[in-house]
Amino acid sequence: MSAAPTTSALPKPAVPFIKIPEHGEPYLEGHRCAACKEVFMEPRRACPKCTKIGTLKAEKLANAGKLYNFTVVHRNFPGVKVPFISAIVDLDGGGTLKGNLVDIEPDIAKLRFDMPVKVVFRDAGRSDKAGNKYLAYFFIPA
Ligand SMILES: [Zn+2]
Repeated sequence: MSAAPTTSALPKPAVPFIKIPEHGEPYLEGHRCAACKEVFMEPRRACPKCTKIGTLKAEKLANAGKLYNFTVVHRNFPGVKVPFISAIVDLDGGGTLKGNLVDIEPDIAKLRFDMPVKVVFRDAGRSDKAGNKYLAYFFIPA
């Protein structure tokens, strides 16, 4: 007898650095170097900035930051709705990541460098074979 695929109550993270606690809100997890304080999204053995080994420790990152850079994407793979805003955000306290800025018209006249944004978690719009949903992160104007 084989086990049937099961759906979990919690969605799955769309990327490894989204953490979804059983109780509480989802959050982003980064890895801060104890020596130079730089934050990286992926775990690493050695710090890419100061090259020290074993100094990176996981920590919960802020859910707010500033829009470092952006572009309005008008052409993409078939099936991807355009236009949308691809953004790079510096999180408060450390950590930089790329994602989509939503809940604002994709018009460069409405965007400015360093505008405050918040991190939100929403359904990624896809599921696995067992029907489990994925949770993705997005940026919204603060
Ligand atoms: Zn370092």
